[in-house]
This record gives sequence, C-alpha cells and structure tokens, in this order.
Amino acid sequence: MTRSAGSGAPCDAAGAGARGALRLHARNAARASTTPATIAQRHLAPDGGIGAPACRILAEQAMDVLLPEPHTPGLHTLALDRFLFGTAHSTTVECMRSSDPAPTALDRHLGRVFGDNDPTGFGSGWVAGVGSLLGGALGFFAVLCFHFPQLLTAPVLRSRYPVPLLRGALQAVLIASVLLGLFNVARRRRKVLGLTGIFLAVAAMALGGAAVPLPDSVDTKFGLGVEWFAINLLVLALVFVPLERALPHRREQRVFRPEWTTDGAHFLISHLLVQAFSWAALFPSRLVRDTLIPARDFALLGSLPLPVQFLAVLALADLTQYWIHRCFHRLPFLWRLHAVHHSSMAMDWLAGSRMHPLDALATRAGVMTVVVLAGASPSAVALYLAFVSFHAVFIHANFGAGLEWLDPCLVTPRYHHFHHATETEAIDKNFAVHLPVLDRMFGTQFLPETRWPRAYGVSDGPVARTYLAQIIDPFRK
Ligand SMILES: [Zn+2]
Ligand SMILES: [Zn+2]
Repeated sequence: MTRSAGSGAPCDAAGAGARGALRLHARNAARASTTPATIAQRHLAPDGGIGAPACRILAEQAMDVLLPEPHTPGLHTLALDRFLFGTAHSTTVECMRSSDPAPTALDRHLGRVFGDNDPTGFGSGWVAGVGSLLGGALGFFAVLCFHFPQLLTAPVLRSRYPVPLLRGALQAVLIASVLLGLFNVARRRRKVLGLTGIFLAVAAMALGGAAVPLPDSVDTKFGLGVEWFAINLLVLALVFVPLERALPHRREQRVFRPEWTTDGAHFLISHLLVQAFSWAALFPSRLVRDTLIPARDFALLGSLPLPVQFLAVLALADLTQYWIHRCFHRLPFLWRLHAVHHSSMAMDWLAGSRMHPLDALATRAGVMTVVVLAGASPSAVALYLAFVSFHAVFIHANFGAGLEWLDPCLVTPRYHHFHHATETEAIDKNFAVHLPVLDRMFGTQFLPETRWPRAYGVSDGPVARTYLAQIIDPFRK
C-alpha cells in the first residue's frame, strides 16, 4: 500500500498534481523494465549477500501460506511481484506537509481548561504543574485500585505485582504531586494545573493513600487494567519525556502536540482492556497447543539457555511480525486498519500507541502462536514481552541521539521513522520492528546515511483524527 502526505494537511493542489504526474511516470518506467533479470538485479542485497533468489524462495513459501487460493504459475508470479515489489494500489499523489496538523477539538478543549500563554520553560512552573496533575490523577486512580481491585485491576496481572514496592511508589507520587503543585501555584499566574494536582493527591490521601489494605484474594475473571495503565503511563512518561526533551530529533515539537489526545485515548483504552486483549491474543496459540499438537512436541527452544532463547524468540517473533506487517500494507482491508497507525503526523513516544485494536490483535496473536509453537519457556516469553513493551515505544520516540552505530543490528527511532515517512523511496520499507537484517534479507530496507524523514503520514484518503472515528472508519469505506 502506498503512503504519502498526512491526512488533512494543507496541500498545494497544482504542485501536488505535477509531482503526482512525475511519480506516475516514474512508476510506469519502472514497470516497463520488470524482466526477471532486472527484478533480481534491483532487489539484490547491496552487500551482495543473501538477496533476491533466496528471499524469493522464502517469499514464495510465505505466499503459499498467505494467499492459498488456486492459481496458475503466471498468476502466482504476478501476485508475488505485486506483493514483493509494491506495484499494486499505486496511484499516489504526493504532497509534502508544510506544518503540523491543527489541534483536534479535544486538544483545544484541554488547552483552554489547563493552558495559558505564559512561558513553559524549565522553572516557569509549567512542568511542575503538568507533573502535579499527572501524579495526582494517577495516584487517585491507584488508590481506587486498592479499594476496588476486583473491578479495576486485571486478573492476568494481579498476582505478579510487587505490592510493597507499588505502595512505596504511590506514597512518593502523592507527596511529589503536592510539592510540584505548590511550586506551580507559586510560579504561575494561572494556577489550575497545580491546584487540580494538589486536590487529587489530597483526595487520594484522604481515601487511605498507600495504606489501603488489600483482600487476601481477588477472584473476578474480568477487571479493567486501571493499575496497568497508571504504572505504564508513569514509567514511560518518566523515561521518555526527559529523553525527548534532552535529545530531540525535532526540537520544536511539543509534548502536547496536535492529536496528542487521540494517541492518549489509544494508550488508555488498550491498557484498560489488557485482560481481553491478552485473552484474545493468546487464544490461537492455546488452541493450537492444546488441540492440534501433543504436549510432548513442545521442547524445541525450552531447553536452551535463557539468553539464547530470548534471541531466538526475538528473531522468530520479528520474522512473523514482518510478514503480517507486509500483509497489512498490501491487502486493502488490512491497510485500512493499519493506516490508523501510519496516520500520525508527529512522531513521539505516545504516537506508537495509535493502532487499531484488530491490527494489534492480529499481530500479537500471530507472533504468540509462533513463539508458543517453538516451545519457548515462560521466562523467555516474559523477557521478550518486557523488551517489546519498551522497544516499541522507543522506536517511535522523538529521540535524535546519534544511534547510527546501532542501525545494522537493532531498529532505532530513525529507522522506524522512515517506515512512517511520506517520501516516495520510503514507502513500504522498513517493516522489521526489531531486527533490520529482515529488511536487508527481503529487499525492503531504506535508511539514508544520517538524515531523518521530512514528514510523516498517509495518503490513501484521509484518516480520521479522533479515537472513535479511527476505530469505526475502516469498516465504513
Ligand atoms: Zn506499517
Ligand atoms: Zn510504527
């Protein structure tokens, strides 16, 4: 599937038409030279290593699985070329975005309630106010989780938490919220951030704070993952906001950039529904393991040392993810779902949360089925999941530190940003999310030496900008 300018971006129609005509001309010229020899030459790995022949065999086998309907050899070759070399769905008009999109209605509403026109630099009280509000809100939700664990915490995670550590963290967050709130109140003319943060923190303390007792056991089968949301938001914000402020790729991009509320809604809902997502994502692997294959056949990876298992799981998972990801780019309905992820026009640690639930579910279910079938131990799977939950956020971050030395072996922010880029050469490239070697093997790598993409987004019709519309719209087109 092709991508270019961001949805809703200002675009000079005449200029776009001229560029589109040029691009179509280039595509037609490329199609005219698609003999087997030129195709092979075009897709050989630049280093002369594993290239088109080996990859083509792998890809043919993958196609047999992915597109199993009856076909003649000719049709098979045509379908394979379309799948591999991206000649399908190709009438893109390219237009470069000149500025970030306008804020959504919810962005503007929250800006009116909590924002002001005063400076936001360090020491101005702005950062303290945001920290106070965030800490107060998360602390308040955490105390509610201690009061109502049967409703607000996820059964799949309950027994795994280090509760004494969480109580200590909650106490620290509540105290910090009050102190930061006081600093905000002292430094800023508009004090709504600090006062709200203090109010929420004091309310949480009045409800028992970190000392609320927990029942000996909680037996509900379904509960919202409020605690999962609060823990993840706190940890990720504490890690990535300072990282992005200290070493940004785009220095002018703010934390609360346009559409941040849309990505925040994706983050919130996907964490609240962690129980249902986990169940659905693991269902196919459980089905296969419990019904189709005898238990004794599951020992392929489990006997290896944990570090080796982890690397094997990482490679298997990314290989599986790679082909599922390519399907989402090539098949029209799947692309409508996946376009939601690509519609972010500003990349940062929160942008990676923007993903249609069915997109996330299909990928996780496929990956987990392969990992379970390979016989990985629970420890190796847990290690892999911990790595993914950090790395998937990292590769979307607005983090501009020089990591070129890492590019050959691990996907970096610059590498994945090119997967989201609008420029012609980057379209349908960089499908791997952990191991760049996969893109080198299958001829889909695009990584200029040092520069970053100029713009991000999609072009196949505008993508909705609010959460609910992004969930529903793929089924209406
Ligand atoms: Zn993609
Ligand atoms: Zn992405």
